[in-house]
Amino acid sequence: MTTRLLLATRNAGKLAELQRLLEDALTGVEVIGLRDVPEYPEAPETGATFEENALLKAREAVRYTGLPAVADDSGLAVDALNGMPGVLSARWSGRHGDDDANTALLLGQVGDVPDERRGAAFVCAAALVTPDGTERVIERQWRGRLVREKRGSNGFGYDPVFVPEGLDVTSAELSPAEKDARSHRGQAFAALVPVLAEVLGTRP
Ligand code: IMP
Repeated sequence: MTTRLLLATRNAGKLAELQRLLEDALTGVEVIGLRDVPEYPEAPETGATFEENALLKAREAVRYTGLPAVADDSGLAVDALNGMPGVLSARWSGRHGDDDANTALLLGQVGDVPDERRGAAFVCAAALVTPDGTERVIERQWRGRLVREKRGSNGFGYDPVFVPEGLDVTSAELSPAEKDARSHRGQAFAALVPVLAEVLGTRP
């Protein structure tokens, strides 16, 4: 028997990443996205933390579809900004999803911060909620530092200014597979696989 699992996202990249991970690791789970279910009104992300936002999105997906659902929330936490932009990463410049404006504003804000204090982390919380009310959340970080000029054209968001720990290239210079293997989202989704196996009762 196949269990349908909804990943509450319209982002085709995230969906493909979770599908790849689960197909390799679990039998009997089909991962679908928001494009595969009837449209429902999505509430704004009002949580104060990544975990809260991921849970809000997953609970909402279960409420409207009756399917077990996974949702993720992510962002960039900059040490010199006390963890901001954090949950406000997508709208840091005031316009939701304007990656160029968000990155330009951030680089300006940390312009005078010396190299040794330019640490940052991408953070991802992945939440699983089932129709019977089971809730699990996993959070993972990907540490690195901010460079002063954009490099690379892969990825999205703040990738062109983030150099992961242990590397000399930005995350926008990694291939999608190289990024998935290391990233906050890759780590959170991978850690979710055994949880899915346990909660959904499928075999790892
Ligand atoms: P969301 O989790 O899809 O809402 O993403 C929130 C925001 O965080 C994005 O719009 C990006 O600005 C930033 N972000 C999250 N993950 C990444 C990443 O892997 N690379 C670059 N930016 C990211």
